[in-house]
Amino acid sequence: SLSGLAAMTDRWRPSEAPHAPRKIYGAGELGTAIANGELTNYYQPKVDVASGDVVGVETLVRWRHPADGLVLPDQFIGTAEDDGLIDELTLVVLTGALAQATAWRQAGLNLRVAVNLSMDSFSSVAFADFVAGAVAAAGVVPQDIILEVAESRLMLDQRAPLEVLTRLRMKRFRLSIDDFGTGHSSLSQLRDFPFDELKIDRSFVHGASRDKTLRAIYATSLGLGKLLGMEVVAEGVEDRDDWDLVRDTGCALAQGYFIARPMPAADLAGWIPTWRQ
Ligand code: C2E
Ligand code: CA
Ligand code: CA
Ligand code: CA
Repeated sequence: SLSGLAAMTDRWRPSEAPHAPRKIYGAGELGTAIANGELTNYYQPKVDVASGDVVGVETLVRWRHPADGLVLPDQFIGTAEDDGLIDELTLVVLTGALAQATAWRQAGLNLRVAVNLSMDSFSSVAFADFVAGAVAAAGVVPQDIILEVAESRLMLDQRAPLEVLTRLRMKRFRLSIDDFGTGHSSLSQLRDFPFDELKIDRSFVHGASRDKTLRAIYATSLGLGKLLGMEVVAEGVEDRDDWDLVRDTGCALAQGYFIARPMPAADLAGWIPTWRQ
């Protein structure tokens, strides 16, 4: 709607605004960017809805493009996956997030740090050891790291993803099923994969207080996550109505523009005291 667009424009932070048209970048340019250290992590807070406490952050990669400005992941993650650059990208993002997790801990901030993993990395069981090695080298405990996997990309017909996820679970990482409800077989994925956290996709959260269908899908996803003993996160909490809904329905955790947009690590400690429910 027009009013919705206006509200977004008002809240749009310059540091987050993409300066580039939404073009898709190629592998050559992306490979050079990774080598040149042009990728950087932004972090979006995740809060405990009942207490308002900031309990963690989700790591979201950005590309500081020398000509085009800040480029969002939708413009290069697909290329990284298709052209064999995704494991390198994951290593860069994970290494940065682990260093940041350590720095926050030393500053007295106890934050669980979530990192997005691509299913394309899950075809080899060595990937679990690679992640565990990076985390051990950084001196971070796996319990403080949440690995988010977008369920729309899970491949049930393959054994390797299940093996990788099971290995990561055994190493005590926390596993999160991302964008829940948008895949083709969400329910069988809950049956087959050992997740600790369920993130309800933002398309079922934002506006759900005004839409019966969205609210039914949201409430069912929340109830399912709770029945399965998972921690449930509502994504896309964009306005006061969304926030009131997740609070009134007893969803444990929330993330979204109403709370904060993704931000550079340096902004986080200063932002926390400004956050009011
Ligand atoms: P995602 O994992 O579902 O991450 C949430 C996305 O929703 C982020 O977009 C975030 O900025 C945006 N968002 C947060 N709150 C709100 C809200 O209230 N309203 C709306 N409309 N959007 C909100 P972003 O950062 O552009 O990332 C897009 C996707 O790119 C991510 O979706 C994730 O699938 C992928 N991605 C990001 N970083 C990485 C990464 O390091 N590795 C991999 N493999 N994928 C990544
Ligand atoms: Ca995610
Ligand atoms: Ca998501
Ligand atoms: Ca998504």
